[in-house]
Amino acid sequence: MSAAGRARAVTARAAPDGLRLRDVPLILMYHGVADVAEDPNRLHVTPARFAQQLAWLRSRGLRGVGIGELAHAVREGRQRGLVGITFDDGYTSVLDAALPELRRHGFGATVFVISGRLGGTNEWDQGPAWPLLAADQVRELAAAGLEIGSHGATHVRLASLGAPRLAAETGGSRAALAALLGGPVRGFAYPYGSMDAAARQAVRDAGYQYACAVEAAGGELGFMALPRIYAGQQDNAARLAAKRLLYRGYIAVRRRHQ
Ligand SMILES: [Zn+2]
Repeated sequence: MSAAGRARAVTARAAPDGLRLRDVPLILMYHGVADVAEDPNRLHVTPARFAQQLAWLRSRGLRGVGIGELAHAVREGRQRGLVGITFDDGYTSVLDAALPELRRHGFGATVFVISGRLGGTNEWDQGPAWPLLAADQVRELAAAGLEIGSHGATHVRLASLGAPRLAAETGGSRAALAALLGGPVRGFAYPYGSMDAAARQAVRDAGYQYACAVEAAGGELGFMALPRIYAGQQDNAARLAAKRLLYRGYIAVRRRHQ
């Protein structure tokens, strides 16, 4: 092979954590599933809307899965027909309202919990407080087949965080959850989607196999920064269909402008 050919072959191959744009999977990001009166941060979908969204996925021949399973499928090139479903923060409404609906469809999902705030509330948000899953409820979700991932130890932004704190939020949280679950924890989700190269390295060093971001562009895109799409109360079938069609184009545009 010529030198130029070799160079092309190298750039065509994805880096260990890298991901080609065409392989970027569709991952939906939820928080709570409940009928709440006041929701300034738009963290909830109603159970009825959630049911409708899962029914839509199924009607398109898609199956909702946790991100551990999805990442494995992407690495093996057999992700067709799979859509990642994630819940950040670990609200009790995931157990009460989302789990029964997921089960009805035979879908999986990943719930990213905050290891140092189990049984607490979302104090970091301005606005109403909602209860977070306690340790035994996290175990209950795991026993029901959902994947449990880490959303940090305390829900702080990881970008620009000092090394000791970064290690506590990533590796410390992983160890705490592994002890709680009695098994390895494979996934991480960055609080607020906040990350930088040091944060991605800390997540990798902590032993996680993948991490979910919100937006990830250019060189960030990879298994340590999987982009996700917000799924909200406004997302009826038409809007979900549009998001599904457009998400790779959106990521591509962000790559070019970085
Ligand atoms: Zn969060």
